[in-house]
Amino acid sequence: MDLKLDFKGKTVLVTGATRGIGAAIANDFYQTGANLLLTGTNMEEINELNRSCGEKSRRRYLQVDFSEDRSLENFLSVIDNYNRIDICVNNAGVNRIDPINDTTMEDYNFITKINCHAPFAICRKVSRLMINQNHGRIINISSIWGIITKKKRSIYSLTKSAIVGFTKALSVDLAPYNILVNAVSPGFTMTELTKSTNTETEILNIAEQIPLKRLAQPEEIAKVVLFLSSDLNTYITGQNIAVDGGFTIV
Ligand code: NAP
Repeated sequence: MDLKLDFKGKTVLVTGATRGIGAAIANDFYQTGANLLLTGTNMEEINELNRSCGEKSRRRYLQVDFSEDRSLENFLSVIDNYNRIDICVNNAGVNRIDPINDTTMEDYNFITKINCHAPFAICRKVSRLMINQNHGRIINISSIWGIITKKKRSIYSLTKSAIVGFTKALSVDLAPYNILVNAVSPGFTMTELTKSTNTETEILNIAEQIPLKRLAQPEEIAKVVLFLSSDLNTYITGQNIAVDGGFTIV
């Protein structure tokens, strides 16, 4: 039995792939042979990444800002030009931390557009291609805050729970077409997002509360995403896999 991950010849879309968990996922897919369509928000950075990858690279970066309707529409029309997409990872996500009375509708619109609206629209688009192929894998990145919650997470938890519900419903719609749809819920992971939303002392305190006594590295989340996306996964669909060092079970 060959248990190696091999994505040679597969076309993989990963949103929010310029840093953190998305970059680790993109890197693992690249190392295992995939052709990649990747997104980030900063045009200069995207140009630089495309330049450094070279014209014949299996990686193509696109600038997309999911908080802007026109940018999302443009991106959806790029997907239209693809003949096939084998794997779609909706990873891009944002968080703003405030008690409910300090949140604004602007916060709500911003976070829901990026964390929910964009993954929904992208899944609608790629699922058409996947239905035609009679094959596909979709992974939506949720969060431990979609399973449990804590203070000041009202909008974030709303979006991350929603993406789990959406994942379940989508998996049922797409099951007849050999398309498996799952969510992955990272626990605390050492990325820019974590550093910007927690102080150093908070990070040390968090590690103490995790059964494995440490935060995750982005690569530890990526490995699970790759397994679920691979042909090794033939029977897991509609699930939300927590990759959290045991945080949500204590
Ligand atoms: P990150 O380091 O902040 O990276 C976020 C990615 O999303 C970047 O590539 C960023 O692109 C992109 N992005 C940000 N705003 C965007 C927008 N308006 N439109 C399109 N893309 C946008 O985040 P991360 O920590 O790796 O998190 C990745 C995913 O895991 C998110 O869905 C997050 O909610 C989830 N998660 C993270 C943790 C954690 O501890 N880090 C825990 C649970 C769940 P630019 O950098 O180019 O702006």
